[in-house]
Amino acid sequence: MRIKVLTIFPEMFSILTEYGVISRALKEGIVDFKAINLRDYTTDRHRTTDDYPYGGGSGLVMKAEPFLKAYEKIIRNEGKPHVILTSPQGKVFDNDKALELSTKDSLLFLCGRYEGVDERVMNIVDEELSIGDFVLSGGELPSMVMIESLLRFVPGVIGDMESVKRDSFFNDLLDYPHYTRPREIKGMKVPEVLLNGNHEEIELFRRKESIKRTLKRRPDLFLKHDFDRMDKKALLSLFRELIGDVE
Ligand code: SAM
Repeated sequence: MRIKVLTIFPEMFSILTEYGVISRALKEGIVDFKAINLRDYTTDRHRTTDDYPYGGGSGLVMKAEPFLKAYEKIIRNEGKPHVILTSPQGKVFDNDKALELSTKDSLLFLCGRYEGVDERVMNIVDEELSIGDFVLSGGELPSMVMIESLLRFVPGVIGDMESVKRDSFFNDLLDYPHYTRPREIKGMKVPEVLLNGNHEEIELFRRKESIKRTLKRRPDLFLKHDFDRMDKKALLSLFRELIGDVE
C-alpha cells in the first residue's frame, strides 16, 4: 500500500514515522509513506501556497496549483491514487471507513490550512472526510488520525490481528475492561473470574462487560450488532442476573 500526503508541514508527520507500532510498520516497508511538501510544487520565488480570497473577506485560501501539480506528478509516476480532502464539511470518518480505505492500493491525503483550499481542487478529490464536528487549523492532524486508524487494518502492521478485531467498533461492540498487575491497588481488586484460568468463563465475562458498556454508552451501536453464540449466552446470563433464574 502507498500513502502520500500533500501538506505545507511535512515535518508534522514525524508523529507517524517516529513513534509507536505504526512507525515500525513504515520503517519495515509494509507501507510506503511519504509526506510531500506543497512548496516543492510552487513556481514563485517565495514558494507561495496561499493567497487572498476572490470577493474579499478575511483569511487566506490555499492555492489550487501546487495540489494539482503534485497530483499530476503522482499520476504520471504511479497511477491514480484515491484522493481524500480533509475537511470539516466532509462525511465523518469512522471504523467502517478505516476498514474500507485499508483495502486501497494507493491513498493521497490533501491537507488544507487557513480558510481551506481553492474550490477547484475538488476536481481531483474522490471524497471529503472530516474527523468530527469541530474545526482544526489544518488537515495534518486529521490525516494522521485517519492514516493511523486505517493502517491498523493493514495485514502486518499490528502483530496480532485478533486484538484489532476485539477492539471497540469492529463488531459494533465497545471493548471490555482490561486489567494488569498488581492484583490489588488500594483495595481495588481485579475481578476474580480473570484469575481462575477458565477461558470459557473469562470469555463470557468479557462479552457481558462489552454488551453492558455498549448498551449503556452506545445503544446505537448495540442495535447494529450481529449476535453470535457467545453473545446470546452472555445476554441470557445478564437477563438471569436481572430477573433471577426462570423456572
Ligand atoms: N473554513 C473551513 C470551514 O469552515 O469549513 C475550515 C478551514 S480549517 C480552519 C483549515 C483546514 O483544516 C481544512 O481545510 C481542513 O483541511 C482541516 N480541518 C479542520 N477541521 C477539520 C476536521 N474536523 N476534519 C478534517 N479536516 C479538518
